Amino acid sequence: MTPVVRKIATLGHPILRTPARTLTREELCATETQSFIDDLIETMRDARGAGLAATQVYVPLSMCAIEVNNNPRYPYKPPIPLTVLVNPVITPLSAETFENFEGCLSVPNLRGRVLRHTEVRVQAWDRHGNTLDFEVRGLSAGTYQHEVDHLHGKIFVDRVFDTNTLCTWEHFERYELARFAEEAKALVARYGA
Ligand code: ZN
Repeated sequence: MTPVVRKIATLGHPILRTPARTLTREELCATETQSFIDDLIETMRDARGAGLAATQVYVPLSMCAIEVNNNPRYPYKPPIPLTVLVNPVITPLSAETFENFEGCLSVPNLRGRVLRHTEVRVQAWDRHGNTLDFEVRGLSAGTYQHEVDHLHGKIFVDRVFDTNTLCTWEHFERYELARFAEEAKALVARYGA
């Protein structure tokens, strides 16, 4: 089936606050679930997101897609190959955090600084139910935490530690991009991602 671009829920819609439920391998392997995953990827790419959680397209199942590849929304983000996570669990590997400047397809035209763990372990299934268990560091760790937060009904604005950092995309580019791109560069130099 040809993938379909789904509608993305925006802030205030209850689905974004609904914790996603985990899937069984049988549910995951069903044709309709596989076709939904294709839609999720198509919608993420169409909206130029770095990731998209199922709850963001009104499906309260524990799965998300992540992909970064020369993203104009996030020019400083190192690439992440297409990754589908099913029933993901994230565990911090240290107490260290960094300031990430985040935005979200479900929160149009707003960005802000959020604290994220610098090193995390990701345990999940891939889209076929195979076990994934890997570590992510640096800026990319922030992307994973943002997406998995969605599956717990959490949105980046909940984690903005200083509301003075909230800004529109236009003002991010005008007043914040240069400084944050330097911070991002230092993280990438240190952690390779
Ligand atoms: Zn988001």
